[in-house]
Amino acid sequence: MARPAGARRPMEPRSPEPPGAGGGPVVVQPQRRKHCAACRQGPLALLVLEDGVPRCLDCADLGHLVFLARGDAALTRRAREESALSAVVVRFARRRGRYERQGLLVEEAALARAEERCLADAEVRERRRVRDARRRVAEDERFVAELAAEIGRLFPGCPAGRARAVAGHAALRGSGRVGRSAAGRALSEAAVTSAVVASVRHLDTPYDGLLMSGVPRREARERIAGAVEGVLREWREPAAREVVEPGREQGVG
Ligand SMILES: [Zn+2]
Repeated sequence: MARPAGARRPMEPRSPEPPGAGGGPVVVQPQRRKHCAACRQGPLALLVLEDGVPRCLDCADLGHLVFLARGDAALTRRAREESALSAVVVRFARRRGRYERQGLLVEEAALARAEERCLADAEVRERRRVRDARRRVAEDERFVAELAAEIGRLFPGCPAGRARAVAGHAALRGSGRVGRSAAGRALSEAAVTSAVVASVRHLDTPYDGLLMSGVPRREARERIAGAVEGVLREWREPAAREVVEPGREQGVG
């Protein structure tokens, strides 16, 4: 049926029919002030078009449903599953020339059940997150212990507490770097030594003080090189010092 020639187009062309949603009712957020054709209440925030005529939700038997705005895909899917009756809410987007989903009308009890299911999921995720964090802590502790043991092997004279501190520091610094990756677990002698040297430099020599007093880094390193070597030598060959405590090796009784 063609429009008669010369007929005036309406100022605001009527929106096309809202799309069906798998057979369920479709609820429209109207652009203009509309009143219910049956009970005359309005203007309506939400309406159903029946044969092109607006009806309020009460007259369309949807008044008992609650609105769930779009945005949470899991909650939306579950609320629809839980709800015996649900309706898609759409609004006509003039600039795009089509209807767009705004959310869902569902039974309130169904929404509550859906929220509980999502909450349960969130709890499961949270428990998993805690487990993962605990495992990472355990892995970190294992790494620190391995690194400390390696320091003890290369530098038997290094006090155990100090080895542990150096290892812990390296583990922190190595966060996300090769130091803590699976490949880094090989703990190359060079890497272990450089961690120990860094510690000795700062704790057993005047290095930091030199830097603070404006000595260039290179010169400061040169000045302390001998001191660093001295400590490393002591730690490498503890036999040079008294390290075996008398009585320790003799067992009990
Ligand atoms: Zn009505």
